[in-house]
Amino acid sequence: MTQKKPLPLHTQIFIGLFVGLIAGLAVNFFAPQSEAVKWIASNVAYPIGQIFLRLIFMVIIPLIFSAIVLGVSDLGDVGRIGRIGLKTLLFTVVITGLGVVMGVILVNLFKPGEGIAEESRQALMSTLQGNQTVGAILTNAQQTKSAVQTLLDFIPRNPFVDATFAFDPSYQGGGLLAVMFFALIFGIAMALCEKGRIEPLTKVFQGLYDVVMKVISFAMRLAPFGVAALIFSAASQLGFQIIATLGMYVFVVMLALSIHQFITYGLILQFFVKRNPIEFFKNIWEVILTAFSTSSSNATLPTAIRVTAEQLKINQDITNFVLTVGSTANQNGTALYEGITVLFLAQFYGVDLSLAQQVSVVLLSILAGVGTAGVPGGSLPLVVLVLQTIGVPAEGIGIILGVDRVLDMSRTVVNVTGDITLAAWVEASEPMAAKADA
Ligand code: ASP
Repeated sequence: MTQKKPLPLHTQIFIGLFVGLIAGLAVNFFAPQSEAVKWIASNVAYPIGQIFLRLIFMVIIPLIFSAIVLGVSDLGDVGRIGRIGLKTLLFTVVITGLGVVMGVILVNLFKPGEGIAEESRQALMSTLQGNQTVGAILTNAQQTKSAVQTLLDFIPRNPFVDATFAFDPSYQGGGLLAVMFFALIFGIAMALCEKGRIEPLTKVFQGLYDVVMKVISFAMRLAPFGVAALIFSAASQLGFQIIATLGMYVFVVMLALSIHQFITYGLILQFFVKRNPIEFFKNIWEVILTAFSTSSSNATLPTAIRVTAEQLKINQDITNFVLTVGSTANQNGTALYEGITVLFLAQFYGVDLSLAQQVSVVLLSILAGVGTAGVPGGSLPLVVLVLQTIGVPAEGIGIILGVDRVLDMSRTVVNVTGDITLAAWVEASEPMAAKADA
């Protein structure tokens, strides 16, 4: 008897995505208010999606910690750690800056916010009154800290507290970045210790890392179902009407994301990394699907690390370090989206922004990209912050919430692809000898 080979995981995930999408859209179209559909959404689709996501989220903290500690301590000398860290930062700012400037140019070209009829504008505004989600986002954004405090909070007083609240968007401390900082210091210190004496510790972290990866592989077996469930929930809730009203805005964001994803990254890969972009995108297909369905760079991190090492064969230490830091700090899709959204809402409210103000939107968006948590909707409080800073009514955030889910999914793909491109770029810029010692 011949045993049938199971379909590859990424094909299974793609089927899940497709089935979830079609079912969700059909339900939204034919029976949007049906009780049975609501029941299925909250008692079947929601728990399946959550089981998949939680299996991944539960190991994110040990993963981040062990990946950074191992990545940094294996980089060996402190000079190399510093160099890779600096390159990561520099390339992040360059790629993010390119994305935001392109987004701002497109939004000025298409002016999506100006085409909205007064009636639709009123209708959208009236739906915002008393909207709890909008209220919660506004409250979070109002508690914004000073720049000095924000920087200080990256240095944790108690890393366990930051780890505990890492996925809580209302937490005011450093969160995941603080955990990463702790891991960074820990790894540097390990690199400076005598190798023989700390070997058992290194083995413990290596073991922890392997175990975490195993848990992730359990979760990934559930991925086709989890993805189907998550997409079903999103598609069945997205109203077509609001999509139509905000179609132009969605179009501009999608256009900018696509240009960044395929042209900007493509050119960087071709000319700086010297890799064939088409091959590259084919190899990371599974990561793209995971990012799209989870809307979370953090939840995609394990898949990204595995695929980058296995398929792209990028140096493991560089992969561990750059992808882990990048999953929170290198969010070019998000930064680009924030720039477009702020200018769109300014156009919507008829607020004229000078060139200087537009430049500050660019700078703020780059910073906001670094500060955004890699979780679904992580950028929304920062959009409010930028809106407030440049004097556009922050309630406007409610206008885009209806279409945010699909944009969130798409910008997460760009964020995660950006992290992998960054890792490839950092590796390509390293001297050959350093690559070989991996
Ligand atoms: N969901 C995005 C991510 O995890 C963050 C955001 O733009 O809201 O990459």
